[in-house]
Amino acid sequence: MINFQYLRTTSAKSAINLLLKDKNSRFIAGGTNLIDLMKRGVTAPEKLIDINHVPLKEIELVGNKIIIGALASNTAVANNEIVNAKLPLLAMALNAGASAQLRNVATVGGNMMQRTRCGYFYDIEMPCNKRQPGSGCGAVGGFNRMHAIFGTSDKCIAVHPSDMCVALVALDAVVVLANAKGERNVLFKDFHRLAGDTPQIDNNLKADEMIIRLEIPTNNMAKNSHYLKVRDRASYAFALVSVAAGMEVVDDKIINVRLAMGGVAHKPWRLTAAEDFLKGKEPSLGNFGQAAKLAMSGAKGFGENDFKLQMAPNTIIEALTIAKSKA
Ligand code: SF4
Repeated sequence: MINFQYLRTTSAKSAINLLLKDKNSRFIAGGTNLIDLMKRGVTAPEKLIDINHVPLKEIELVGNKIIIGALASNTAVANNEIVNAKLPLLAMALNAGASAQLRNVATVGGNMMQRTRCGYFYDIEMPCNKRQPGSGCGAVGGFNRMHAIFGTSDKCIAVHPSDMCVALVALDAVVVLANAKGERNVLFKDFHRLAGDTPQIDNNLKADEMIIRLEIPTNNMAKNSHYLKVRDRASYAFALVSVAAGMEVVDDKIINVRLAMGGVAHKPWRLTAAEDFLKGKEPSLGNFGQAAKLAMSGAKGFGENDFKLQMAPNTIIEALTIAKSKA
């Protein structure tokens, strides 16, 4: 049991001010990951700032953007009519994550901030550069079935566990962050980081900042989009590999396409080479196969996760095929 102070606030401004007062304080909303981390001794904040009552739960269409407040629950977003009509890929990804109970309390901002589920990270007796920089990586040469095949470093081969974030990177979302001086926008693809030499840093949120909202442009890919998640059991399991796929097809030509993968890298992994290849082409199985081959450039297995080298391209082809087949 660790002692911590519990504070509650009702505005973003006061939340940020409280954060500035103590470096070892953390925001808490749903707490579905943070409480686990605290129970296991992975993290020990001295202050928890409860932001559940900050009014950041909006989900609305403004012009050609869907605005989603950082404290909207995963369930609220997944069930929202506008999201289902305009961005079904996001609703599908959210519904593929966690369990209904967890989605009811987990927030959009918390989903983005959740940490890897690498077993070594959660076991404080084991080496882990992410938990304790310089202690080594238990997963390299160890149990790494769930681990990354893209963008790895010799310091860390963990994956980001979110489904929602895979859809958001495919949808070209923008994250709005705020500190005491104002707001800044970050492209979703630049929010999370690769491990590199600093695996302890998951993302580019600064210590004095708070996630305020997402802004997601609408597109013409709603009809032909699909989120395909391959996992060990039908629910409440993290992705072995997942693919977010969306395309706009006119006269049997792909005029716009978005592809991203989850379960394969330290951040949601956008497949730009595959997208570039598919633009202007027929949505055929042959072209999907070529795109999948391009997407796998640079992939590397670590033993137990070598199966992902085959599973990933197969999942890309299957996701594109299902997306295309939707009437
Ligand atoms: Fe830690 Fe990353 Fe290695 Fe897992 S893969 S043990 S999180 S350093």
